Amino acid sequence: MGDESRTNLSPERRRADRARLADDVVDVLVIGGGVTGAGAALDAASRGLTVALLEARDWAAGTSSRSSKLIHGGLRYLEQFAFPLVHEALSERARLVRTIAPHLVTPLPFLLPLTKPVYQRAYFGAGVALYDVLGAAFTSGRAIPRHRHLSRKATLEAFPALRGDVVRGAIRYWDAQVDDARHTLAVVRTAAGYGARVLSSARVVGLLRDGDGPDAPVVGVHVADLTDGSSFTVRARSVIAATGVWSDDIGDMLGVSAPSLKVRASKGVHLVLPRSAIDGADLAASGGTQAGLILRTPTSVLFVIPWGERWIVGTTDTPWRLDRDHPAASSADIDYILDQVNRVLVRPVSVDDCLGVYAGLRPLLAGESDETSRLSREHAVVMPVPGLVLVAGGKYTTYRVMAEDAVDAAVEGLPGVPPSRTALLPL
Ligand SMILES: Cc1cc2nc3c(=O)[nH]c(=O)nc-3n(C[C@H](O)[C@H](O)[C@H](O)COP(=O)(O)OP(=O)(O)OC[C@H]3O[C@@H](n4cnc5c(N)ncnc54)[C@H](O)[C@@H]3O)c2cc1C
Repeated sequence: MGDESRTNLSPERRRADRARLADDVVDVLVIGGGVTGAGAALDAASRGLTVALLEARDWAAGTSSRSSKLIHGGLRYLEQFAFPLVHEALSERARLVRTIAPHLVTPLPFLLPLTKPVYQRAYFGAGVALYDVLGAAFTSGRAIPRHRHLSRKATLEAFPALRGDVVRGAIRYWDAQVDDARHTLAVVRTAAGYGARVLSSARVVGLLRDGDGPDAPVVGVHVADLTDGSSFTVRARSVIAATGVWSDDIGDMLGVSAPSLKVRASKGVHLVLPRSAIDGADLAASGGTQAGLILRTPTSVLFVIPWGERWIVGTTDTPWRLDRDHPAASSADIDYILDQVNRVLVRPVSVDDCLGVYAGLRPLLAGESDETSRLSREHAVVMPVPGLVLVAGGKYTTYRVMAEDAVDAAVEGLPGVPPSRTALLPL
């Protein structure tokens, strides 16, 4: 984590960081303390640049604490032939498990239950084999075990809650999981260890421009300090906005004429259940680690994920046009998840079993399709005017690549900036 004494995010540190920001011109100012912004701050700070990271609420308060908490390539994207996307994400998975955060990102087995005759095993088997190949192609030693085919008997031993009359067998494959908010905080603290000045409760309310025209460069930001109601200005050579589903707000600060990123919010809901609600565990049969489930749904997939003493079950994928600070689950979302998971469970779970529910908003790049489940999971980096880089889209798993691309764009004009170091930089 860099220099230990410099990673302490105390009130004193915040006061000192804010005071220094008011005096200096930083090389790179990052708006947004989700995983992408935190990653950009770390990327820039570890290149030796002076960096500010400003978050309107708390670290990871947006989407980065509300995900399925999987570090994965996305098995389902293979069906969309998104091989480069899957390969990139699996490469990042390997880096996170082996080098960047082995203390936070742990391999996790999943059972892909088979419910149809032989052809389904062949079809899914080919997909999972390709997934393994794409995951291993990048690494010399495997960080993640290979998949295995399970008979019906072995499947029911590994996951006794599954209905024997529905499930004909399974394929067990591996991905990884992470406590997303904790990981984002670790990235912020590591950036702070490299000297980044990091302020939460600091909302960017306007862009500082050098001139009046529509192409006037961005040279800093106006900030509302939500801890005391004051405001201040930070000057920067380059500003990166990593504001997820709030990206269009930053575009709006530029004025109507500037070309920008269009980001749509797609809501995803998860239920939290006690372990006792779903009888999943036979640890000897599942290789010593509790397996999760991945289930096909009409439009996407549903995960049943072991999470400490709980299960996380989700997710959904529907457009959200209400308050982006407070996405909420509807009873239709909850019923949908229960219906989907109950298709394969011996003992159905009900709303009474739920300990909690949470909803998050995917920042999807707006495209041709109206269905959010078909919008791109890829990311984009654009520079609508000199001095401002917008980065959005992508997945939690690929935050480091997004951050590197954004910083590369931000420092293009700055002389002598070294390349990114984060691929080999432990948190
Ligand atoms: C239901 C769901 C499940 C998911 N599951 C997975 C998964 O299992 N694996 C995976 O890889 N990906 C997953 N994702 C995707 C992943 O969570 C997101 O891609 C990622 O968290 C986005 O991070 P971000 O930093 O870009 O955005 P955010 O985390 O939303 O961060 C943006 C930040 O910007 C701040 N901000 C906005 N405006 C301002 C301003 N004016 N001033 C200062 N700060 C501002 C916000 O407060 C926010 O904290 C999932 C997403 C959802 C919704």
